[in-house]
Formats: sequence, structure tokens, C-alpha cells
Amino acid sequence: MFVKNLSLQHYRNYDKLSLNSFGNINLIIGRNAQGKTNMIEALFVLALTKSHRTGKDKELISFGSDHAIVAAEVEKKYGTVGLELKLSSQGKKAKINGLEQRKLSNFIGSLNVVMFAPEDLEIVKGTPGIRRRFLDMEIGQVQPSYLFHLQQYQKVLLQRNNLLKQSWGAGPEMGTMLEIWNEQLAEHGVKIIKKRKQFIRKLQKWAEHIHEGITRGEEKLKLSYLPSFGEAEEEDEAVLLEQFMIKLSQMKDQEIRRGMTLSGPHRDDLAFHINGNEAQVYGSQGQQRTTALSLKLAEIELIHEEIGEYPILLLDDVLSELDPYRQTQLIETFQSKVQTFITATGIESINASRLKDAIIFHVQ
Ligand code: ATP
Ligand code: MG
Repeated sequence: MFVKNLSLQHYRNYDKLSLNSFGNINLIIGRNAQGKTNMIEALFVLALTKSHRTGKDKELISFGSDHAIVAAEVEKKYGTVGLELKLSSQGKKAKINGLEQRKLSNFIGSLNVVMFAPEDLEIVKGTPGIRRRFLDMEIGQVQPSYLFHLQQYQKVLLQRNNLLKQSWGAGPEMGTMLEIWNEQLAEHGVKIIKKRKQFIRKLQKWAEHIHEGITRGEEKLKLSYLPSFGEAEEEDEAVLLEQFMIKLSQMKDQEIRRGMTLSGPHRDDLAFHINGNEAQVYGSQGQQRTTALSLKLAEIELIHEEIGEYPILLLDDVLSELDPYRQTQLIETFQSKVQTFITATGIESINASRLKDAIIFHVQ
């Protein structure tokens, strides 16, 4: 897909912005705090209806305004679509070709993006919650039904946890009430687990290949799902459902004691191994960064496999951190097929010979 234009209103430090001349490679150059990240963040927000930097929409609205609008026309295989997202304290409103969408899940996925930013290092280095968020965002982007199950799961989880908290020390009649929540928790939970496992299996294939290329064959990257019950490889829904229900009944006493749900997709994790060693523990800074990059590049291929089109690639401040070999590798792999937006503080920090056809935007 190809973003033809972008317009912003009251978005972060942009009161009004209208751009109509994007190319395949777009360099966004400017000093610190001028609005480079804000510009590509807006594209990310248009794709996923939320920012990669914050969960609070209020932060995206210009100081002193009550709403923000991000709009773009995107050229896709089957024609051009106009996308518009309005953020305000009343919530989000999304339009496709001028038609308001009743459900945001219908809108998400109209534009597909892969963003690689410095904080993505945390996917490898950070807490399990960051890795779960990575999985949820990426799967949700190509499978709206995943977001549905995730929302339902979170709702049930909240109610189940409330019950567990209130029931501390309560009698055995608690059991029947818990069982009602157990069924709903497991129903949505196994869908989430299954889709995550499928996603990781497919991502593994591409990530291993790409990582090998970036490291000149020196490193073998392996991804694995770390479930809170059952085997990592199990993908059969009926089996998962049974295992989840058994686990919930085994954990019952402990859960009542601790007042929370202790197993399920909200406790699962994702692990990365480089040549057999866990990257989070043993990886160098460079290895961790390269792992995060391989993941993101693998996602590009995965989205292509999934929807038959390449997403756009947003590279925030990361190109200049790669050595020239890796920069070249990155640009050449995707130059002709993936529309790319790259931010940097100066053009000299990037291997400019590879970017002779790039369109340059100076942000001030
Ligand atoms: P750097 O090179 O440091 O990464 P940048 O060009 O990427 O800089 P941005 O992150 O895009 O900078 O931010 C630019 C400016 O936007 C900052 O000065 C910030 O204070 C401002 N800003 C952030 N949120 C809002 C908002 N809601 N309203 C107005 N301005 C905002
Ligand atoms: Mg920035």
C-alpha cells in the first residue's frame, strides 16, 4: 500500500499540516523537538487508532484544542481509500471514504504499518507485558477478530478478579460463581492463545531468515511462546480449552487466596534465543537491537502473506544507529516494495547514496 497524502489538524505540535507528495522513500529531517516523530506517529495512529508512545489519546491533541484529526488517502491493490480519524474527549470517530464506521475494528487494518523505534528494544529487553502488547498490537492489525476476543477476555478477567478479591475468605459457594466466569475466560482465552501461537510460528520463519541475513549468517534467532499452561506447540482449540479449565480448577484455592487470576494469556510471555542463549539475559545491546529489527522486518513479510499487500514502514531515529552494512541491507531489502518513512536529525547520519531517489521533508 502507498500513502498518497497526509493531513493533520490539531495533532500534537501541528495545528494544520497538508502533504501531497510522498515517494517510496521519505526522509523526514529536522532538529530535535520539531515534530518528526509526531508526523510518523500520526500515520501509526491512523492505522491502529492508538499511538505506539502512549495509551492516552488526550496527549495526541494539540495543547488548547478539544480534538485532533488525522486523514490520509491510501492507494491499495483494489483502489484508493480515504481514511479519517478524529480524536476527542468523547472518544474516537473513524471514517472510511467519508462513511463513519460504527466499530473501530472495521477501521483498523485499512492502513497497515510496521514501526521500528528506539523503544522497540524493550520488546527484547523489557517486561513480559511489553511483549504481550507487541503480540496484541501486531495480531490485531491483521485479524480484527483477535481484538474482539482480547476485549472480551479483558472484560471477563476484570470481573473475575473483582469476584476473587471480594471473595477472600468466603465459603465454598464461591466455586459456582467462579465457574461461570471460568467458561467465558477460557472461551476467549484459547482463541487468543491459539492466534498468538500461530503468529509466532509464522513470524519465526521470516525472523530467522532475516536475522541470518543481517548478521551474515552468524546468528540463529529462535522465538518461542511461553504459556502459563500446556505445551508451547499445542494449537488445537479443544485441547487448549480443556487444559485451561483444568488449570483454572487447580489454581482455584491459590487464586482465591491471592485475589487474582493467575493463569491465562494475560500471564504468558514470548522468548528469544540467539544461538541457543536467551537474548533478554545474555544478548549484547547490538544483538538485542538486531533481534528487535529482525522481528519488525519479519512482520512486513507476515502482513504481506496475510493480506496480500505490503504495509508501510516507519523508521523513527533508528537508521542512524545501524552500521552502514545493516542500513544498506535494510533499505535494499524493501526499497522497491515497501513505502518507507525515515526520521533523522541530519541527512549526513544516513547512508545517503542508497537514498538518492528519496523525497526529503525538512521539519521546522
Ligand atoms: P527528536 O529528534 O527529539 O525525536 P522530534 O522532531 O521527533 O524530535 P516530536 O516527538 O515529534 O519531536 O515532538 C515535537 C514537539 O511536539 C515537542 O516539542 C513536544 O513538546 C510537542 N508536543 C507533544 N505533544 C504535544 C501536544 N499535545 N500539543 C502540542 N505540542 C505537543
Ligand atoms: Mg523523535
